[in-house]
Amino acid sequence: MSEMMADVIVVGAGNAAFCAALAAQENGAKVLMFERAPKEECGGNSAFTAGAVRFAHDGINDLKEIMPDLTNEEIATTDFGTYTQDAFYDDMFRVTQYRTDPELCERLVTTSLDTMKWLRGRGMRFVPSYGRQAFKVDDKFRFWGGLCVEFWGGGEGLVECETDIAKANGVQVEYGARVTELIYDGLQVSGVRVKQGGRIYDARAKAVILASGGFEANHEWRTRYLGPGWDLAKVRGTRFNTGDGIRMALDIGAAPYGNWSGCHAVGWDRNAPEFGDLAVGDNFQKHSYPFGIMVNATGRRFVDEGADFRNYTYAKYGRVVLEQPQQFAWQVFDGKVLHLLRDEYRIRQVTKVSADTLEGLADKLEGVDRDAFLDEMAAYNKAVQTDVTFNPTELDGRGTPGLEVPKTNWANTIDEPPFEAYQITCGITFTFGGLRIEPTTGQVLDNDHDPIPGLYAAGELVGGVFYFNYPGGTGLINGAVFGRLAGTSAGGAAKA
Ligand SMILES: Cc1cc2nc3c(=O)[nH]c(=O)nc-3n(C[C@H](O)[C@H](O)[C@H](O)COP(=O)(O)OP(=O)(O)OC[C@H]3O[C@@H](n4cnc5c(N)ncnc54)[C@H](O)[C@@H]3O)c2cc1C
Repeated sequence: MSEMMADVIVVGAGNAAFCAALAAQENGAKVLMFERAPKEECGGNSAFTAGAVRFAHDGINDLKEIMPDLTNEEIATTDFGTYTQDAFYDDMFRVTQYRTDPELCERLVTTSLDTMKWLRGRGMRFVPSYGRQAFKVDDKFRFWGGLCVEFWGGGEGLVECETDIAKANGVQVEYGARVTELIYDGLQVSGVRVKQGGRIYDARAKAVILASGGFEANHEWRTRYLGPGWDLAKVRGTRFNTGDGIRMALDIGAAPYGNWSGCHAVGWDRNAPEFGDLAVGDNFQKHSYPFGIMVNATGRRFVDEGADFRNYTYAKYGRVVLEQPQQFAWQVFDGKVLHLLRDEYRIRQVTKVSADTLEGLADKLEGVDRDAFLDEMAAYNKAVQTDVTFNPTELDGRGTPGLEVPKTNWANTIDEPPFEAYQITCGITFTFGGLRIEPTTGQVLDNDHDPIPGLYAAGELVGGVFYFNYPGGTGLINGAVFGRLAGTSAGGAAKA
């Protein structure tokens, strides 16, 4: 059994892992990364993202530090708004029903801007998220929902740039290298066991950082922890996040933490493949439902499509779709709003029907009770408050009073051809439960809540940050903040 040596070993090569590796390297550590996926499938869930990233900022001056390439014209024609720390806290507390761990949340919120500046300083590039997070109002782009920046090149650009920067700084990345065990003598973690290319070997280091994602791609664990039916969900991202890092840490006495029965899950094309497809990225998602309605097999609406901006509802509505008969729904739109549909509605691999009349559309909605659907549409159209002005950039209060399932904002009658409908099911993004870390060092805690010497964690596999729901764009900043923290601590410990 051959051995490899480093100061710090990082398990995984997604965003959290690279941020950890870069921070450890910056602290003088020799860093070795092990990535389970082969090179052509690398990057974890981070590679599947559109790169949208949420962080607190006080407006254009902060944004200019992160995006120095912004032109005067862009600045003049865009209302970026602000997203204060208070607003970020409010969103985290509200969507997690006040369950988010206050110390983890504080670190996330208060160091989010500084982490973005650090990433920029390390060579990462960012651009405004015009395509998905802004609408043009009176000749000015207005951002909504607390998100206005994305990584240049989306998720694939992010992974490519982080890989290049890490390698240029001497970080070694091993692909097709699955870490199977932690080397632990009961007192200190001192390395990992690796399976790579038909070989098994040990790699030694003074510290190990786990950044190997959640258990969303593990059918058995999903069913065990999220509950019955979750075996039926499609996986939006990588097939490699099967909970290995969590299992290895639990095996040596780490404390489980957070919302083990909770996850991020969205409306996802009914005919999408079992796992994500990097060529399509996140485009199987269908996130323009706030401007239409959703019906299930019984022909009835089942959720308030306009309860809030999509950034604050999409991550919990996948579960609602999974709970419907036969785990599907149809999203229905009419001609008035088709121009508002996101790019993902125009991909080739889409499950879509269209017609010139509602009756014609009803004939094409596979699996749906036709008459009940037409009754539902009539009742919905009648209830829409057409006297309230429709405005997609704010919670416009244009609702449907009197309906059993209300639509609170952006209600439009569905009566103008062409009519379009898109079939979705549940796509799981990542799981919320994971390991317990010390919020100021990133060290993994054991069941007595004492740090396990030599062991750190970051990213999806850290529990306690998200419960029930999630504000869009927080996964990448979560990985960056806690990856950087773990890398800084591990790098410092390795030097000592
Ligand atoms: C389709 C999609 C779109 C998304 N869009 C956004 C978005 O726009 N903005 C946002 O903030 N978040 C988004 N997210 C969520 C975001 O991707 C995650 O929260 C974040 O990328 C997780 O980063 P991570 O580094 O913890 O995990 P990952 O990026 O998943 O990396 C984990 C890595 O560990 C590797 N690994 C697993 N087991 C082992 C092992 N035993 N040994 C070695 N390596 C192992 C995996 O192969 C993987 O490469 C999206 C997710 C998906 C799936």
